[in-house]
Amino acid sequence: MNSLGRHILVEFIGCNPDILNDVAVTEKGMIDAATEAGATVIQSSFHHFSPYGVSGVVVIQESHLAIHTWPEYQYAAVDLFTCGTSVDPWVSFDFLRKVFQAQNYSALETYRGSLSLLQRADYKVKGSREAMEKKLGPQFQRSLWFTDKDQNQALSLRYSKDILFHKKSPFQTVRVYDTEAYGKMLAIDNMIMCTEKDEAHYHEMLVHPALQTHGSPKNVLIIGGGDGGTAREALRYPSIEKVTMVEIDEVVVEASKKFLPQLSTAFDHPKMELKIGDGIEFVQKSKEAQYDVIIVDGSDPEGPAKGLFSTQFWKDCHRCLKPDGIVVTQGESPMFHQGTFRDLNHCLKGIFGAEKVFTSLFHATTYPTGMWSIQMGVKSGKNPAKDFSMDHAKSFSQAHPLKYYNADLHAASFQMPTFVKKLLNEI
Ligand code: SAM
Repeated sequence: MNSLGRHILVEFIGCNPDILNDVAVTEKGMIDAATEAGATVIQSSFHHFSPYGVSGVVVIQESHLAIHTWPEYQYAAVDLFTCGTSVDPWVSFDFLRKVFQAQNYSALETYRGSLSLLQRADYKVKGSREAMEKKLGPQFQRSLWFTDKDQNQALSLRYSKDILFHKKSPFQTVRVYDTEAYGKMLAIDNMIMCTEKDEAHYHEMLVHPALQTHGSPKNVLIIGGGDGGTAREALRYPSIEKVTMVEIDEVVVEASKKFLPQLSTAFDHPKMELKIGDGIEFVQKSKEAQYDVIIVDGSDPEGPAKGLFSTQFWKDCHRCLKPDGIVVTQGESPMFHQGTFRDLNHCLKGIFGAEKVFTSLFHATTYPTGMWSIQMGVKSGKNPAKDFSMDHAKSFSQAHPLKYYNADLHAASFQMPTFVKKLLNEI
């Protein structure tokens, strides 16, 4: 070859927009396209833009592959640059055409660094290759970030190994990542559901303030909660006779059983009944006054979880509760999806009565903003901030390997910052 490199400028047209907007799938496609052509991958860095589009580069020993996508135009601009003769960039081109399901394309090859124009200089490398590699770090380093975000703010966690679990269900895309800082992480679409390191914050605060306030829960209904963490906490109570979990997506249960053993212990518990189905329909069809506690462990108001924020759903929950029953739900964040947080609170107050709805805050370290809430409707009018047995809560949290919940925090978590009181018209 009479040049140092070959550069193919590719226009992929009529591509599958979901793939062009999926940073993990695009990144994997680009890396696989490089290895398919025989290249040695050194490093990759990919970024997902808001609201859509992906940019990324795969650095290979033989130069690089780069991409920028416009899902809204079903278009991807791709650069395939290789040096030497060991790698054929057209192999990567054919591979990527299939990955992006391009209906059409144009590709222009140009030779870079024509040796008829260049003259080799007498250049010697300063310092040893080892010193240089030490600077570079391990031979193969991937820097991938999973980002949970809305238009204005985000939380990203770095992962560097392959995605452990990736399945598209009829409702959503379920993935398990192995993150560097928080261990294994369950994600649904682009939302973090839980991580091994801090899932206890969420599951313990969703369950214990409500069940301690109730005092002797027997029949508990969980809506959602497919990772199993909420059931694990509820089944710590000896008074419990039955836990019914209604989870819409069996793929979430599958992912948790396979990769999140610390969360999925409860699925084999004799008092546990798992029903795969829509929780909204389930409470609609349920008889009244059946449950002591209903725990709604659903995701953000998108996809199948949208209806879990509807007035009719909460009315049905109220009807299914016994006269001294309690409903408790993940309540979103006063700093992230503020409108949803406030509207949910107002909706519950409209159904249970303003004096029977309570909000507690806790540190959700892997949810955007880190400030998350639990919202509770208490039919009996008990106040969960004080109408619970401090001694029982103390001995309970000492008797169980809890990581977050304790009796003092239980009471304190219902004390709201001033801006939240204002948001909820509580001052
Ligand atoms: N902690 C998480 C959060 O705050 O976003 C929630 C975790 S949990 C895994 C959420 C579960 O709710 C998911 O498994 C999802 O499939 C389930 N879900 C969503 N909508 C549902 C519905 N209508 N009925 C039953 N389960 C539902």
